[in-house]
Parts: sequence; C-alpha cells; structure tokens
Amino acid sequence: METHAFQAETQKLLDLMIHSLYSNKEVFLRELISNASDALDRRRFEALSNPALAPDGPLEIQLIADRPARTLTIADNGIGMTREELVQNLGTIARSGTLEFVKRAQPGKEGDAAPDLIGQFGVGFYASFMVADEVDVVSRRAGEDGAARWTSKGLGEYGLDQASRDEAGTTIRLSLKAVDGDAGIADFCDEWVLRQVVKKYSDFVAYPIRLTIVEAASDGDAEAALPERREVEAPLNSMKAIWTRPEGEVEESDYAEFYRHITHDFQDPMLRVQTSIEGTFEARALLYVPSKAPFDLYHRERLHNGVQLYVRRVFIMDECRELLPEWLRFVRGVVDAEDLSLNVSREMLQQDRQIQTIRKHLVKKLVDRLKQLAKDDREEYEKFWAEFGPVLKEGLLDFSEKRDRIFDLVLAPSSKEPGKLVSLADYVDRMPEDQEAIYYIAGPRLDVLRRSPHLEAFEEKGIEVLFLTDPVDEVWTSQGPVTYRDKPFKSIGHGEVELGSEADREQAKAALEKDEEIYGDLLAALRAAIQDDVKEVRLSSRLKGSASCLVLEEGDLSPQLEAMLRQAGQAIPERKPILELNPKHAVLEKLGARFAASPTDPLIADAARLLLGQAVIAGGGQLEDPAEFTAIVNRLMTDVL
Ligand code: ADP
Ligand code: MG
Repeated sequence: METHAFQAETQKLLDLMIHSLYSNKEVFLRELISNASDALDRRRFEALSNPALAPDGPLEIQLIADRPARTLTIADNGIGMTREELVQNLGTIARSGTLEFVKRAQPGKEGDAAPDLIGQFGVGFYASFMVADEVDVVSRRAGEDGAARWTSKGLGEYGLDQASRDEAGTTIRLSLKAVDGDAGIADFCDEWVLRQVVKKYSDFVAYPIRLTIVEAASDGDAEAALPERREVEAPLNSMKAIWTRPEGEVEESDYAEFYRHITHDFQDPMLRVQTSIEGTFEARALLYVPSKAPFDLYHRERLHNGVQLYVRRVFIMDECRELLPEWLRFVRGVVDAEDLSLNVSREMLQQDRQIQTIRKHLVKKLVDRLKQLAKDDREEYEKFWAEFGPVLKEGLLDFSEKRDRIFDLVLAPSSKEPGKLVSLADYVDRMPEDQEAIYYIAGPRLDVLRRSPHLEAFEEKGIEVLFLTDPVDEVWTSQGPVTYRDKPFKSIGHGEVELGSEADREQAKAALEKDEEIYGDLLAALRAAIQDDVKEVRLSSRLKGSASCLVLEEGDLSPQLEAMLRQAGQAIPERKPILELNPKHAVLEKLGARFAASPTDPLIADAARLLLGQAVIAGGGQLEDPAEFTAIVNRLMTDVL
C-alpha cells in the first residue's frame, strides 16, 4: 500500500468539514448518489460507441447498510476509475467551487468557518468525511481488468492499493461515526433515515437506488454468526422526473399528481407550462399556475413556495427565487439545469448568467401562455386574473421587465360595460380616433369610482374610463409617465380635463372664461372661507350633474398612495386638493345671486364648507369635521323647513 499526502487545500477543507457543526450533514448522500449517477450516465454514453463497455446487468445504485458493522456502502456499476483517476479525482481539488469554499471559510475571516458555507458549496465526495471516520473506495474502470483501492481517514493522507472487483464500477464504503443528534449525524444505517434522505434529494435520479439492510441475527437464531441480509424490494426513488419526458407521452393525471406532490395543494393546477432551453447550456422546466392564490401571497417573507431547482435530476433547493421575478411568485414547479454545479449557493445564483437566461426564458413562456389563455378561454383567464392579477401588476413597477408585455395581460372594469372586465388592448383598440390618453380613475372601491363626479364629462362624451381598484395600481400609475402602446395613462382625477375635438375644447374654454368673469368674486370669497383645506377653488367643465369635486394637480400623489407611504413610515408633505365647481349647477347660480346681493352673508362661507364636504364624500373620502358639516346642513334645513 502506498501512502500519499493530500493537497494542501484538500486538507484544510477536510478539517473544516469535520470540525464544523453543520446540521445538514445528510447532503453527503446526495453527493455520493449524484456522483454514482454521473458515472452511470458516462458508462451508458461510452457504451454507445464501444459496446464492449456495456454492463452485464441493469445500471443501478446500491446502498448497503450494515448495521452491526456500522458501515454504509454506496456502489454503482458505472464507468469506474483507474488508479490514476482515483488520485486525480479524490486526492486533489480541481473544482473552483471547492477552492472558493476554502477561501471563504478560512478561519479568522468573518463568521469563521460559517458552517452554512458547506451546504452552499457542497463539497462533493469529501462530504463523506462529515459522517465517516474512514472512507474506502474500490473502483474498476470499464474496459480494464484490474481494480484499485483508495482509503483515507481524512487526516492528511490517503492510501492507494491494488484491489479486485467483479465488475466495472465503484464501491464506496463509509465507516460511520457515532450517531450524534447535536452534530446532525443521524443513523445513516437506518432504513427510515435513508429512505427520507433519498426521497428528499435523489427521488428523480434516473437510475434505481436499491437498499439492502444487514441486521444482526436475532438471539434465538441457531446460526447466530451469520447476519441477516434483507433487500428492500422497491427502489427508494421514484425516478419519475416527468419534466424530462416528451409532453405527449405523459398523462395529464400524472402531471396533476406531480403538481400535488410538490405543492401539497389538493386542487388541480389552473395551467401547466413545460419548456426547455437548448443551446450552449440546457435546462428543462415544468411550471404550474395554481387555481387558487395561497393565503400568504402578499407576505413575501412567509411565502413558502416558488420553484424548485434541480441539477441533472438532483434536488438542490426549494423556493429558488432567483428563477422568477417577484410578480410571478405564485408559479410553482421545477427547473432542472444540466450544467450548473450541484454546489451553487444562493449568492452565486444571483449573478449566474445561466440562471438569468433561464429566468428570461421562463418569464417569456409564462407570459405567452397566459396571453394564449386570455385568447382561448376568457372565462378561465378572468378566474386567473381574479386570483393573481394584483401580483402580476407588481411587475409594472419593475422597470427591468418590459412593461407592455405585462400590460397586454391586464384586465380592468370600465365605465362602458358594468360588470365586465376589459383588456387594455381592447380599450386602446376601441378608443375614438382623437382620444389621446388611456383614462382611468383609481381608488379602493369600485362602487364609489362608478359614481364619481369626475366621470360625468366622460360619460357625456361617451369616453371609456378604466377603474383601477388594487393598491398596486396607485403605485404604478404614479410612476409617470406611464404609457401603453404609446398612449399615456391619465387619471381623470388629476389636472384639467380637455375632451373632444379641437373645436369642442375651444368652445368649452371660452364658456369657462365667461363663467369665470361672472363668478370671479364669488370664487375668491369661497376660497377665503376654506383656504386651510384647499389649494384653489375653480370652475370646471368636467362636472355635469354634480356641483363640486376635488381634483389633484398633475403629478400629485393620490390620497391612497399617500396613506400607504405614510404607513410605510415615509414623511409625506401636506398636499391640498383643488375644489372644482360646476358653473352650470343651480346651486352655483343661486349662490352667485346671493353673493351679488350681500357679499358678506355668512351663508357664503357655509356653502363653501358644504361644497367641499360633498366633494370629499363623493370621492369616497372622510370629512375632516363631520360635526361641523352636520351643523351647517341642519341650519339650512331649519331655514328651509
Ligand atoms: P464533482 O462530482 O463535482 O466532479 P466530486 O468531489 O463529487 O466532484 O467528485 C470528484 C470526481 O471524482 C468526479 O468528478 C468523478 O470524476 C470522480 N468520481 C466520484 N465518484 C465517482 C463514482 N462513483 N464513479 C466514478 N467516478 C467518480
Ligand atoms: Mg459530485
């Protein structure tokens, strides 16, 4: 037997691993099984061009848990390693990820050998030393006669020797450390533990993983010297990586079952999207849109779902948020990448170009699929929209995504067809020639919006107005200028209205100017009465049936958005609205007459308060001083009665 020293980095790594308390020591099995699976892939591949390398039996992975001896053996009939390959692969560190790990985990650096790093980077084969005092590898390269043995206690050196093995492949025997719950060392000879770990990480590995348990013979047994071997009949893994199979070959019920398996949702999904990326690197994805929004959809920190990441059928992590933008966080499913390292960490994922490419691809596929649904099955799409529309609209806040693609998916109620939703595309398509903007009004209650005084001029002219009722609408609309298909969004509660043709507008303007001459002094008196509450009192052509309404200046935050920002702890300066009055309303005409007769009549100030109060109520707001409002109304009633 020859003895060799490990490379310096390898030694540091082993020390770190063995001495750090890491609760996730079970990943060692994931690493060894995935190595075995890689070796089986290679053997199958090489046998294609060289049939002499084909195995006698089926390709598989064997686990042998010898309970009396406390060893766990992982054996495969894969490609195997020559003596030189054993040295190269197990005695040196070639992988950048591992080197990086060693650098990051240098003692004395921040966080010391932060144990989590092991989980982030994984350490492949060396992970065995987390749970084993000694590792013994016997391997025979396919196509070679001899086998070699590599053994190490993970203490700075390893031994190399000749060995024999009946068939090509690799057998790794771990002499397990004592079970130690505090150190996260479970009983890896226990059938239940092994089943759990295999199910968690290696369920979709494409080769059967079989388990044999060796028990101490029971006391009463005559041949007590011979331990009992028991083969667990069925493979531990399901091997059902249905995302790898062509869509036409999988039953819809299997897709639904898989969905329930990964989500624990008892309902069927609403949509399924299967896609693959080919080219310089490969990935497959099988994604689902649930039929109901989870209750925690708006509590991002608590949302325990998202997409699982696999690398070559081996489970890497749940909730891989890097794979989809936040506004698609309701999407569930799996992404399986061919060329990522098993040991990717979350930090690495954020910068990973492949992940970025996958993400772009998935966003496009999902958006296209939803568009298709909107076209093919409007009823179903409206169900989708009711569940996830507000989340999808969060994407409008994200400038890195192409906004129009999301706008294409947006539905909203409108003033045209009560009880129905219109798409923005339909809205724009049926806009009159001379309409320049997409008009909307935002607020929390649809019924209030529908009766808003601001709508009057629009209704009269037959111009459609969208009602935006989700909190997120307040936000994206305020990030102006916002456009869809080159049409700007315009709030009918902000700024001045200019509707109709050039001639119409000129006419309206002239009429307004005339009214201003008539009512100029009255307006000043009204303004004086309520100057603490409004910025201005002016006449407007936007009102038809109502006497007054409140408007904001172009660019002002809406009251709802202000409230949200204040709640979020931001200091928002006081902002006063503008009170607009309808010069054609009987109230104004009478008020004008009264003012002409007696400019200091206290009724003028009362009227100002009432007009303001009405406007607040019509906008769904709350009166600053309801008692005062009631008192004025009562005074007037008493006079009239
Ligand atoms: P990685 O799998 O990322 O390359 P590992 O530390 O897990 O890193 O394994 C190092 C190398 O050892 C592998 O790349 C492979 O060449 C070799 N190896 C490990 N296990 C086996 C096995 N069961 N059969 C054949 N080769 C193996
Ligand atoms: Mg590996």
